[in-house]
Amino acid sequence: MMTPRGTYTRHVSSVADRLDQVHARVEGAARDAGRDPAEIRVLVATKTQDADAVREAVEAGATLIGENRVQELTVKAPELADLVAAGTLTVHLIGHLQKNKINAALGAASGIQSVDSLALARALSTRCERSGHDLDVMIQVNVSGEASKSGVAADDARQLALEVATLPYLRLTGFMTIGANTADAAVIRAGFSRLRTIRDAVHASGAPGTSEARELSMGMSRDLDLAIAEGATVVRVGTAVFGPRPTPPTSAPITGDPA
Ligand SMILES: *Cc1c(COP(=O)(O)O)cnc(C)c1O
Repeated sequence: MMTPRGTYTRHVSSVADRLDQVHARVEGAARDAGRDPAEIRVLVATKTQDADAVREAVEAGATLIGENRVQELTVKAPELADLVAAGTLTVHLIGHLQKNKINAALGAASGIQSVDSLALARALSTRCERSGHDLDVMIQVNVSGEASKSGVAADDARQLALEVATLPYLRLTGFMTIGANTADAAVIRAGFSRLRTIRDAVHASGAPGTSEARELSMGMSRDLDLAIAEGATVVRVGTAVFGPRPTPPTSAPITGDPA
């Protein structure tokens, strides 16, 4: 008799298989760069994936996920709350955050990788003061200068980081970027290298609040190898784990960096 293995089981193993492949890719890229793979965490980017899909990724070993949209985050968060409470799962926001959505975002995420202005950082710190919780933040930098991408301009990133680092309830853990939208590996790498230079300058500054600013969240499914070569400590991977995202029904494309 055949064991009744349904599509659910096959689906689980395919997410698990793909996540294994991502980890193998990370290890290969780390080895090529002469780095310890243990320095690099995989964040699973879960936009458009439902809570069951996220759960499959967690069962397959994912411990850190990133959501882009606050609205989507707040829908999924209650279904994942048990994993967060158990310490199995950490949730970060990796998409643009508007000030009027701070309360919703902080109800569901323990880290914000997309801080791109002092006004936003101040509002986050004030909100955290009220709730008495510290918040991990990264500065999102637009290293490619592409108009479609959010993030502070590379020239202004260092100053913003130094100011954010002084805010009382925020813990500046590092920097995040999205690689240039080009097939030219040298251009993508130059952007990642730029983020690393910014991180190094801030971390080495000795300025208040900068001693923990060591993370470089950079690299996605298409360019994580280049990012690891340039020092990434977090790579954010969606399609390589879940397969291609469905095309949205509206005219607004779901890109790597929705507005
Ligand atoms: C979607 C997304 C990712 C993952 O992109 P993939 O190409 O699916 O790996 C990473 N970072 C951000 C900010 C994203 O929006």
